[in-house]
Formats: sequence, structure tokens, C-alpha cells
Amino acid sequence: MHSKKLFLFDFDGVIVDGMNEYWNSALLACEKYLNSPEIFIDHNLYKQVSNTFIEMRPWVKYGWEMLIIVHEITKRENSLNNNNKINFQNKYHQNCEEILLKNSWISEDLQKCLDKSRKNQIDQDFDSWVNLHKPFYEVINFIERIKKDKIKSGIITTKGKLFAEKILEKLNIFPELVFGYESGTKVEIASKLSNEYEIMGFIEDRKKTLVDIKQNNYTKHIPCYLADWGYLKKNDRNKLPYEIKLLKLKDLEQLVAI
Ligand SMILES: [Mg+2]
Repeated sequence: MHSKKLFLFDFDGVIVDGMNEYWNSALLACEKYLNSPEIFIDHNLYKQVSNTFIEMRPWVKYGWEMLIIVHEITKRENSLNNNNKINFQNKYHQNCEEILLKNSWISEDLQKCLDKSRKNQIDQDFDSWVNLHKPFYEVINFIERIKKDKIKSGIITTKGKLFAEKILEKLNIFPELVFGYESGTKVEIASKLSNEYEIMGFIEDRKKTLVDIKQNNYTKHIPCYLADWGYLKKNDRNKLPYEIKLLKLKDLEQLVAI
């Protein structure tokens, strides 16, 4: 039994709702760095997040996929919209791969474009960028609350670590550990951490990630919670496997009350 206790949190959809930021940053990245002749990005697009984009967000694992989605939404012809989004979702990964191939893109470069777009906004007007994120204050209070019980907080995100830290700082929360996409997969990170800590729980809004944790021998003992307030697909709440529990914002406190 480890004496050091740790709670793990995903970032996007769990600690903050960053929908406005994802849309803005991906749009800016497509407009400035993608050089695709197929798209047309009008300034009005920045004013409101596309509904199709919101509907697609639960499928996203890595940031670069959002550039693919925005690219498809802003295409002059055969664009992705609410009428054909189901087809795209049904073969989501295959579609993303095909679009990469068709345009001779590689995912790492798209991720760099997204990071560059974020970096530019931060350099120009940090407050405006950070304000595109809406915090879930219940989660922030929970992180404060467990600190009093000497339970540490760790954030594992598929975002760049730098960007997550900037937002956390602004929210005035300082988790002991922050890992971005640079540190490997969430299963790898959780597996390493479980050598050192007793992991009290992992709160995440991507069901597949929790299933991966439960299917790995080194991490399957970690209690997993699907964040009901995050970016969930319609059927995610049904029949959760491997004792993964659906967690509502109002029930957070109960996790340490026992
Ligand atoms: Mg998430």
C-alpha cells in the first residue's frame, strides 16, 4: 500500500469547458497555417462555434483532429455539416486518416499548427485567450478540498502541457503533477504513477480512455469515473463496462466522503 495518495483528472471537458477556444484556435490554425485551397474562412465564423463542431467534439482524442474537423466544415464543397456528420462519426478514425493522406499532412505537423495558433494568441492577448475557457468550479473546489486531506492532484491531458499550465495558473489551481501529450499515453502515465502513488480515482470524459485503463494490467485497479458534465457521446452513459462509474458534478464530494 502506498502512503502517497493521488487523484487524476483529465483537463478538457473535466476541469474546463474550452469549446470556444478549440473552435477559435483550430479555425485560426486552418486559416493561417494550413494553406488548403479547399477551404474558405470568413471572419464571421469566429463569432460563434459551429454546431457541427460541437457535435463532433466527443470523438476528438488529440488536438490535431480538430483541425481536420474544421477543415472539413469550412470546405467550399462537400463540407461537413449536420446532415452528413453521422457518416463521418461512424468511421471517425478512418476518415481522419484518409484526410491526412489525401492532403499529404502528418498529424504531428497539424498539432504544431494548433500549438502555434495557441502560442500566437497567448503572445498577443493572454487574457482574451484564457477567457475562452469556462472553468467547472465544482472540480476546482474539489481539488482544493482534497488538498486538505493531503491527497495530491495530477492532470493528464492530450493538450500541450504548457497550455494546460497557463490556464490552471489563471484559475489559481496548482496541481502537483501535470502531464501533456508530450509525456505519452494516459495509460502509460497512469501506469508509471501507480508505482509511486495510491491512485484514488481518475476522472475523464472520454470513455475509451477509461476502458483502456481498465484493460491494462498495471492500471486496471484504478477507480475510473466518466465525467457526466464533459464531452460525451449520446450512448456513452449506457452500460458502462469494467465498473466504470458515471459521475455527476454534484456527486464529486462523495468521492472523498467515505
Ligand atoms: Mg476530456
